[in-house]
Amino acid sequence: MSISDYERAERIQFDPDGFDLATLAVRSGQHRSLEGEHSDPIYPTSSFVFSSAREAAARFGGEEEGNIYSRFTNPTVQFFEERIAALEGGERAIATSSGMAAILSTCLSLMQVGDHIVCSRSVFGSTVSLFEKYLSRTGITTTFVDPTDLNSWEEAITADTKMLFLETPSNPLAELTDVEAVAAIAHKHDALLVVDNCFCTPVLQQPLKQGADIIIHSATKYLDGQGRCVGGVVVGAQKEMEEVFGFIRTGGACMSPFNAWVFLKGLETLKIRMDAHCENAMAMATWLEQQEGIDRVFYSGLESHPQHELAKSQQTGFGGVLSFEVAGGKEAAWRFIDATTMVSITGNLGDVKTTITHPGTTTHGRMTPEARAEAGIKDNLVRLSVGIESIEDIKADMTRGLSAI
Ligand SMILES: *Cc1c(COP(=O)(O)O)cnc(C)c1O
Repeated sequence: MSISDYERAERIQFDPDGFDLATLAVRSGQHRSLEGEHSDPIYPTSSFVFSSAREAAARFGGEEEGNIYSRFTNPTVQFFEERIAALEGGERAIATSSGMAAILSTCLSLMQVGDHIVCSRSVFGSTVSLFEKYLSRTGITTTFVDPTDLNSWEEAITADTKMLFLETPSNPLAELTDVEAVAAIAHKHDALLVVDNCFCTPVLQQPLKQGADIIIHSATKYLDGQGRCVGGVVVGAQKEMEEVFGFIRTGGACMSPFNAWVFLKGLETLKIRMDAHCENAMAMATWLEQQEGIDRVFYSGLESHPQHELAKSQQTGFGGVLSFEVAGGKEAAWRFIDATTMVSITGNLGDVKTTITHPGTTTHGRMTPEARAEAGIKDNLVRLSVGIESIEDIKADMTRGLSAI
């Protein structure tokens, strides 16, 4: 018996069937080697050794399962993939080097010259650039639509449309898209619905169960949750994931085993972190709405949100990100941000630490002023990714901001 046969025969694997999400986040994708380690093992190796020339040939030829090279597969990365697939309720997940690599790999592996994407205009800024500036060079075109208007999705579809792409709730204005309704539109036209589920995570929303075909994550955000690593993942049915896997294996946008291990650790606390983010964000949104100097708060948990009912039916919580307009313009927004002393001024979100940013000049600064205006991102808008610190301490910091505008 070769060492690899022995390890495979003895590896203990957790069977995810019948367990709740909170349990899956901690235990699915867990494999234990003969050493009996309690935490997930890291396999920091570029390649794997075969017991014979025959075994090497069988692995390369695909007749025998097993690892060859870490650009193709790596055990720690596979543990992460198994855990995410279990949490999203997908057949298979493929890890990538970043969230953007997940989007790029999905598009390039499932589309070709002449194909068309219908995309929400309220998606992550780099997603817009990727589609407009780079995918267009390969002959894949994109039409951007109002994510809240189902007619605009339907009307944008052409005979070449292969993919509909959305993010819900959107960043930074928390606009929602009805996933079930857009999935029905996509399927009527034989197109795939891809949902970037970064803001909700599977804890708050599982779009595959609402008809979406593929889920994208930037693992950099809530999946890690502690701001340590950049990574991404694509989840879906075996058929599409085989294509995505083939592309990543060849194109090289793979996840490192170390990052996969960090994400596995992050996922263990995903459920309690998301619960804490939701609780703090709801308290903060409610409080901000009552403050003088705040013109408007955007958070789908508020009854004042125009799609609050949709949020309640499609999500199990409202998430940790909110935004608000301060009385005044850009200068007032900047003064608010600069007067805070505890929260971090950074464009990142989904961290246990509260972060604050001015979307108009940072995350959405590369959009033209017209595009920003059309998307409703005003100069007095501030975005808050509410962390899990004491709500009283976050409020105290926001009070410092308010007194500076
Ligand atoms: C950050 C982010 C991305 C991109 O992910 P990276 O890991 O930074 O490449 C994609 N979509 C959303 C919604 C994001 O917030």
